[in-house]
Formats: sequence, structure tokens, C-alpha cells
Amino acid sequence: MTAAPPAAARLPSVDRVLAAPELRALADQYGLSQATAALRAVLDGLRPAAVATTLDAAQTTPEALAAAVRQRLQDKFAPRLRAVFNLTGTVLHTNLGRALLPDEAVQSVLRALTVPANLEFDLATGGRGDRDDLIDDLLRELTGAEAATVVNNNAAAVLLMLSALAPRKEVVVSRGELVEIGGAFRIPDIMARAGAKLIEVGTTNRTHAKDYEEAITARTALLMKVHCSNYAVTGFTKSVTEAEVARIAHAHHLPLAVDLGSGTLVNLARWGLPHEATVRETIEAGADLVTFSGDKLLGGPQAGLIVGRRDLIARIKKNPLKRALRVGKLTLAALEPVLRLYLAPEFLAERLTTLRLFTRAQAQIRAQAEALAAPVQAALGAAYTVQAVPMASQIGSGALPVDTLPSHGLRAHPAEARRGGRQLTRLEAALRALPRPVIGRVADGALWLDLRCLEAQDEAEFTAQLQLLAEVLAHG
Ligand SMILES: *Cc1c(COP(=O)(O)O)cnc(C)c1O
Repeated sequence: MTAAPPAAARLPSVDRVLAAPELRALADQYGLSQATAALRAVLDGLRPAAVATTLDAAQTTPEALAAAVRQRLQDKFAPRLRAVFNLTGTVLHTNLGRALLPDEAVQSVLRALTVPANLEFDLATGGRGDRDDLIDDLLRELTGAEAATVVNNNAAAVLLMLSALAPRKEVVVSRGELVEIGGAFRIPDIMARAGAKLIEVGTTNRTHAKDYEEAITARTALLMKVHCSNYAVTGFTKSVTEAEVARIAHAHHLPLAVDLGSGTLVNLARWGLPHEATVRETIEAGADLVTFSGDKLLGGPQAGLIVGRRDLIARIKKNPLKRALRVGKLTLAALEPVLRLYLAPEFLAERLTTLRLFTRAQAQIRAQAEALAAPVQAALGAAYTVQAVPMASQIGSGALPVDTLPSHGLRAHPAEARRGGRQLTRLEAALRALPRPVIGRVADGALWLDLRCLEAQDEAEFTAQLQLLAEVLAHG
């Protein structure tokens, strides 16, 4: 006879625990299979203690087991994609989801998600439609281009454009424009994937018109210019304007493609912001195709837009990759109302969320910072000194990398310099642990919370968490 394992036997059976009312309630809420799996995991976790005969009876009461199971299920069922406060000072923060959509776009997405829509259905004829037709007129009017198409993001737009127009052919690009955009988008790699041969011309800092001229051969498919999104080449530099490259391309009966990256549809100087080449200006300069993002300066959903010559857009749309990279109805539902806002630029700064954030007056942000300094100081306690200070926001996502927007915010620096690093890490972690995590920026031995993106309607939610923050810092 073998002796029964003495201690492990003291773990209750799964079936017995499941019959307890506490567990039945969890099974009703999360489903029996999930509740059972969570209970098994909890019991497995207790088994080593049971074997070692160190298990405390209080750990195996139905209440205790139910609490542990509830915690597991709550964690498992909590959303992973969560709302945060972007107080980094970078408005279009790629890691925080870039552009925020205006209400028109949100309502349109909601509708498209819940009822059928004419995504590819021509309501005039009753025949099959083309999803690009939903935004084609708008993009033509807003950019002056002859035709337009839309794919999942701008990286896809560039890949598709090159795959359709330059397979096994050469594409001439200046060495000063062989950019890498965050998240592993590199022009040379995309070029290789598209089956095009990259012909680099000029040097990192200087490229001349004759460099383009001399690179053109019978195998050249197109000339390409790429916007230096996230860096600036300064000092002894020379680049060739879009208009000049277009003239060279056209003299050889070749198209010029411009990857604008961010690409805006309006002159931002109108709102006192730095000027960024618009899609229309680029088309007017002679570009035959322009690619740009939907969720950077444009302020819409993630998308890649291609506008330009009708014949070239038609070739692009016929390429099989277009089908693989096509956008879903959510994207189109969000993009259409955003584009429509641009028809009346006089209301744009008020209605387009990103532009409203870019154009928030520093004085207003400063008043907000001054009002929040005391409550935030109270939450952080004596271990930190909180001050309202001027800051410089960035547009982000590679748009206008050198220009900053005068802003204001809160700087929290550890009162004790000796333990400063650890205190900052602790503060950042406490802010991230809040129900709606607060993301700031650590620099120069302090945590900086730029308040540009904390609009009035969000402020109550921010301050409501301060009490909890104080508790997390006190106990964490
Ligand atoms: C951002 C950017 C891209 C990539 O755009 P996504 O929409 O992020 O895919 C490509 N080219 C340039 C020049 C960019 O700035």
C-alpha cells in the first residue's frame, strides 16, 4: 500500500470549489471554462505550499480562492489597448497612436461598424463600386491632383507605388533623402521589396541637378524625392527642388514621385505654425505622384494616400498589392469626414483635433499649469518639487522635426538629488499604474508633463486620479 500524499491532499478539489456560490457567480460572469481554468491555475500556484505542508487553511477557503480567481479573470479580461494621457509634449506620438480623431469621424466609424454601408456599391447604378470613390472627389479638390487612391499607411503607399511603377527598373533618389522613419521604414529596404533598383545620387549633404540628369538611363522608371521627415540636413547643403527634379524627369518623359511623409493639405503658416509643403504645392511644383500619411499632420486615421496623374493612379490600382494593402471600412469612414473638414479651412483650428492641439495658446496652457501645480504637488508629496514651467512641444511623427511649439507644463524633480534617479523611475511607474496612465518625459533629472494635450474636457479625469496617485506613491 502506498501512503496518500499527506499535504497536497489538503487542496480542495476543483469541482468542490466550483460549487461554492462565490465561484458560481464568477462562472456566470466570465463563463464556466474561464472560471475553471483560472481556478486550476490558482490551485496549481498553491500546490508547492501544500506539498511542503506550509499551506495556510485561510488560503483555501471558498472566499480566498474566489478572490484569487476574480483577480486573475479581471486581469485577463481587462482591455490591453487603454486610454492614456499624452503629456510627453509630442502631439503626434507614434507610440501613443498619433492623430486623435474629431467627433465627426468617430460618429461615422460608429455608424459604419454597426450598419451596412455602400463600401463598394454604387448607389446611382446599383452596380459594384470602388471603395476609393468615397474619397476620390475630396482628395482631388483638396490637392489639385487628377486621381487618388488609399491604402493602409504611407509605408504601404510607397511600397505599392514602387511595385506598380518600377519593378526591375531603376529609381533615382538623392543620398540625402535615404531616410529611416521610426519603426523600421527605410527607403532602400522598401525599394528592394518592391523589386526596384535604387540609384543613389549626390552625397549626404549635397545633391545637384546634374546628379539626377547623369543618373537617368534607359532602365530608369522614375525619379523620387523623399521628405526628410525626422531630421534636418543643415550647414553646407544643397538639394534640388521638386520643381527642378520634375523638370528633369519630364524632359526624359519620366514621372516624379514625392514621398511627402506627413503631408498637409493646408498652409499651416495661416495659424502661425511653421510652413510645411502642402500636397497641392507639391503637385503644382510638377510631382506626378505624391504619397502621404493619413494620421500625421492630416489629423485622420492611419492610412496612406497616393494622389497624382490619372494614368499612373490607374496602374497603381491595378497592381495586385493594392488588394493586399487596401483599407477597411473603418478607415474610410474616419477619413472621409476628416477630409471634408478641410473644405472649410476657416473652421479647421476649432474642429480638427490635431490642429486645435497645435494651435493651443501658450497663455492658456500656462494658466492650466499654474492651476494644477498645487494639486499635483500635494499628490506627489515632499519627495518631489513641482513647478509650472515653460516647455517646448513637438509636432511629432517626423513632421517639422526642428520646429517646436511654445508650451507650458509641470516639472517634478526629486527633492533629494542623491536618490533622484530612483525617485523619478518610481514616479513614472506610479503615473503609469493609474487607471488612465499618465505618460510624461524624463529629462535633465526631472519628470516633465507638457499640458498641451490635456484639453479642458480631460482635466477633471486627470485631477480625479491625483488622490489615487498619492496612495500609489505612499504605498508603492
Ligand atoms: C512617416 C513617413 C512614412 C511612413 O508613413 P506611415 O504612414 O507611418 O506608414 C514614410 N515616408 C516618410 C517620409 C514619412 O515621414
